[in-house]
Amino acid sequence: MTKKSAASHSLPVEELSLAQARAEHTSLGEDIARYDRAYYQEDAPLVPDADYDAARRRYEALEKAFPELVSEESLTKKVGAKPSEKFAKVKHAVPMLSLGNVFSDEEVRDFVARVRRFLGLSDVSPIACTAEPKIDGLSCSLRYERGHLVQAATRGDGYEGEDVTANIRTLKEVPQRLHDGAPEVLEVRGEVYMTHAAFAALNERQTAAGKQIFANPRNAAAGSLRQLDSRITAERPLHFFAYGWGEVSALPARTQWGVLQAFNAYGLKINPRTRLCESVEEMVAHYHAIEADRAMLGYDIDGVVYKVGDIALQERLGFVSRAPRWAVAHKFPAERATTILRDIEINVGRTGALTPVARLEPVTVGGVVVSNATLHNEDEIARKDIRIGDTVIVQRAGDVIPQIVEVIPEKRPHGAKPYEFPQVCPRCGSAALREIDEKTGEADVVRRCTGSLVCPAQAVERLKHFASRNAFDIEGLGDKQIEYFFAEGLIKTPSDIFTLEERDRKSLTRIKNREGFGETSVRNLFAAIEARRVIPINRFLYALGIRHVGETNARRLARHFGDFDSLRETARDAVPGTEARARIDCIDGIGPVVAEALHDFFAEPHNEKELDALLEQVTIEPMPQVASSSPVAGKTVVFTGSLERLTRDEAKAQAERFGAKVAASVSKKTDLVVAGPGAGSKLAKAQELGIEVITEDEWFKRTGQE
Ligand code: NAD
Repeated sequence: MTKKSAASHSLPVEELSLAQARAEHTSLGEDIARYDRAYYQEDAPLVPDADYDAARRRYEALEKAFPELVSEESLTKKVGAKPSEKFAKVKHAVPMLSLGNVFSDEEVRDFVARVRRFLGLSDVSPIACTAEPKIDGLSCSLRYERGHLVQAATRGDGYEGEDVTANIRTLKEVPQRLHDGAPEVLEVRGEVYMTHAAFAALNERQTAAGKQIFANPRNAAAGSLRQLDSRITAERPLHFFAYGWGEVSALPARTQWGVLQAFNAYGLKINPRTRLCESVEEMVAHYHAIEADRAMLGYDIDGVVYKVGDIALQERLGFVSRAPRWAVAHKFPAERATTILRDIEINVGRTGALTPVARLEPVTVGGVVVSNATLHNEDEIARKDIRIGDTVIVQRAGDVIPQIVEVIPEKRPHGAKPYEFPQVCPRCGSAALREIDEKTGEADVVRRCTGSLVCPAQAVERLKHFASRNAFDIEGLGDKQIEYFFAEGLIKTPSDIFTLEERDRKSLTRIKNREGFGETSVRNLFAAIEARRVIPINRFLYALGIRHVGETNARRLARHFGDFDSLRETARDAVPGTEARARIDCIDGIGPVVAEALHDFFAEPHNEKELDALLEQVTIEPMPQVASSSPVAGKTVVFTGSLERLTRDEAKAQAERFGAKVAASVSKKTDLVVAGPGAGSKLAKAQELGIEVITEDEWFKRTGQE
């Protein structure tokens, strides 16, 4: 059994071993990817924003403390989620990125200090910034050519978005034609949003029509814009504020403020609460003024965005992976309410994890009725001493699954007992244990059911995962259907999915005559299963649900091994100390915890049997190789001497943008040295080792910047 170091989640990153950090980085990465998909593609968040933000921060902190965890797959380099297949795709000429977050006035000061440092300016040099409300909607890019609206796209994954041109044309606040004076090509970036009043009216209409209601105005705006039929969008009152730009043939001004004023003159709406601030004090004061008026605005905002005003400075500051260095979002704190905890239920997940869920007396928090909250894990319940019957403070931040912040002890009913977390699985009765980390001797935060092969809850969750969107993606075989087929004994293992039709033909299952399954739905289901008999290796691996092998690690393994048979054989033989184990240990990004989990999975006889059965039904496609395009991609670069056009931070950021790694000293592993005047020992060392040395100007040419 794999010994997971998950107790590490509660430790400060500095106290983690690399193996612990790697395991946490991987599992956190998978959680974040799952949250992103639900949020961006399905407009239906799984966790509160505050939890999401905390997960992101921890993930970033891990990468900061352990730079070896950073790879091309890192979520710190990614924005949003891939565009939905339902829409035509639009490539953004200039990427649409995210924003860094800060939560306190102090961090705003740090932001301005960082900007000054990066630009090599003194601590007192003035930096003017705009402060704009951060509208809680979805961003959209509007492309105007010779003043005419020609295309509109959502952000998608930042590089490719969804074509929503027809839908955007139904918005009154988006001009089809700009007033005179607009540049030849102008991509306007801004936020599509819905007002509180429109949101309430829409939900009323949806309820009356027996349709799904939206959790909040952001989801409603996203769901309304991302419609295949623009007539539906036209019925939904959406608004638009412009706040930025993408590709532009000639910028109308050299400041953020100036460009926004020009946008206004072209007929675009800009937010009236935008203000130009000359100092940090003014920025923070404006933030608090907006916060005070927040409830009166009539639409949701989740903070204030500060942007360095001078565009020349913005250009120098550039981007750090997924966000501009010249802007930051100062977020508002989450909203809270008080209610009663009626019960604690335990869910059992695919890996046997027992997750506690709070059932609450329904309460309205920030305009949304809340009746469930996450309780995280056993330690959290004990730490906060949460008892059934308690009066609790619930917090949500713009979405559906809120959390319990604390208990109000004065209101505790007489006789309320401390909550006893179950020691056996509520579904199969097997012992539920917290694994002990061999090295630290600490218990895992998660208690798991040990009945992996007999627990019906785990089996069903594994099947759901197997058929899910990023695994086999079998349409018509969603959670409900799987639960039904499992309960009826028709699908017990993944390979059963692929023999379903044949068994049905032999009249062993008679699906058609069952409730909820008509002739067409059965035909469609069989066709959807048939269409998935060929599957790329990375998806296949992910579908198997091996612990610690989420999408990222599945891709890493697929890329390394290429074909499934060699991976399977190596993993099966990968007992520590063997050559097979060494072959897995050397894969970039795969640590001992994952290697152990792979071995556990592939060496387990029951899994071997099921894999053989599955491979009789499906064909696995090997992984195609990907090539990198930048001439310095994958190279290790050292900058030395005094650079004249770039600060050190800028140079490093540029190199990383082009896929190169930056090292502090010259060694045999160095591929390229960029030397400015005054370079000394590093230059000498490079010459001695015969490493290529270029000037700063040559660096600009090499990387295609001039
Ligand atoms: P973000 O929403 O924090 O910031 C970037 C976005 O702000 C831009 O894309 C733009 O749409 C918007 N924006 C609004 N007003 C703006 C202005 N004046 N100037 C510039 N941009 C403005 O970043 P993100 O990458 O879209 O998402 C991250 C946030 O979304 C997280 O902080 C989290 O709260 C939430 N999120 C939550 C979940 C979840 O599961 N709850 C999942 C993903 C994202």
